Order: sequence, then structure tokens, then C-alpha cells
Amino acid sequence: MSEKLILIVEDEPAIRQMIAFALQRSGFEVCEAFDARQAREALANQRPDLILIDWMLPDTSGLELTRSVKRDRHTRELPIIMLTARAEEADKVTGLDSGADDYLTKPFSPRELIARIHAVLRRSGAAGLDHIVEFDALKLDQQGQRITVGGQTVPLGPTEYRMLEFFMTHPERVFSRDQLLDRLWGGNVYVEERTIDVHVRRLRKSLEKFGVERFVQTVRGSGYRFSAKVD
Ligand code: CA
Repeated sequence: MSEKLILIVEDEPAIRQMIAFALQRSGFEVCEAFDARQAREALANQRPDLILIDWMLPDTSGLELTRSVKRDRHTRELPIIMLTARAEEADKVTGLDSGADDYLTKPFSPRELIARIHAVLRRSGAAGLDHIVEFDALKLDQQGQRITVGGQTVPLGPTEYRMLEFFMTHPERVFSRDQLLDRLWGGNVYVEERTIDVHVRRLRKSLEKFGVERFVQTVRGSGYRFSAKVD
């Protein structure tokens, strides 16, 4: 089972770091955003399992950000916990009205935060997010962590699986080698860009046996794209 990714949207560095530290210690992966603009950027590139949104952000308010996430059909399933210094009951109602799944008043303890996150994730999981993505006969089962074609499992190495999972959840978009390195390996590890080519080659080879390699396309001079459209 892969680790859950939590997006933290909070402009105060000390609080953001405290939250990130607490989450990482509890086995979550985190990505961080300083304001609503960065949060939207993060959402365009990654698929977090849950978003923590601070009410008071420097650009758009956390409330407005929550509303826009819940309006967008690509992101509306994502559970949101709002963080706020406001303890007023009326604010809490407004926060939940905006579509937030839960609401936490500062100051809170890391333990309380983790407990709320687990509870919200359990609820949203139970609400039937299927985590299945299909393109023709090619099927990604994120919970089962496998790729099948016409019901047959495609044997893939862990990197090829991650790569294909990323492609299938971000279809019809061109990613440069640099972006793929970032998304698949994170910024911390030193990996050469041509490593991407090696893994794409392996991935295509595995898909070839099932006749579905056409989905993984080279975009000359730019990078790679997963596309279900025939050129
Ligand atoms: Ca703030």
C-alpha cells in the first residue's frame, strides 16, 4: 500500500513545518503550498489523498480555495480539512458549508491533527472512491496496485508501475523528463534525465506484450505523454 500524500496549504512557515514534520513522522508523504496559487499548481501536478487548508491565506482565502477545489470535477472528491484560528461557531458552519470535510481550530496538537486526518480518510475511503482508471482494455487499480489488460495483470517493476500510474492519472499532458524526475523521484534523489528514457523503454516493452504500448507517446523535443487518442 503506498503512502498517503497530504497537501498542506499554509502560509506560516513555522506551522507548515510543524504539520509537515508531524505528518511525516506518522508515515504520510507531504507536499507544501504557501498560498492558493501554489496549491492549484500542486493540484495540477499531483494527486494528494487529502488537503489541509489554512483559512487565512495571503492571496485567496482558504474558504474560497476550498470552494474552488470542490467545484472542480477533477478535485471535488478530495477530502479537505480546514485549519483556522477562528473558534467562532458561525465560522465553523461557513467552513463546512464551503465543502470542507472537517475543521480544526488552532492551536491543535499534532496528535489531534493525525487522528482527524485518519478519520476523514477512512470516511472518504468508505464513500466509495474506486481508484480505478481505465483506457480501453488498460486498467489501473490503485488500491490493488496493479495494471491489467483485459483482466490479465501486466508484470511491471515498481518504477514502471509508478510511472504508468502517474501517466494514467495525468493523461493527455506532456511532461518533460525533468518534470517526470520530479514527480516520480522527488527533488531529493540524484537521477539522470536519461534514466527516464530507460524506464519508459522498459514500460513500453512490458505493454507491448499486451498490445497497449501506443498509449505511452514520445513528444519530440518535449518529453512524454500518456494519450488514449489516436494521432
Ligand atoms: Ca495563515
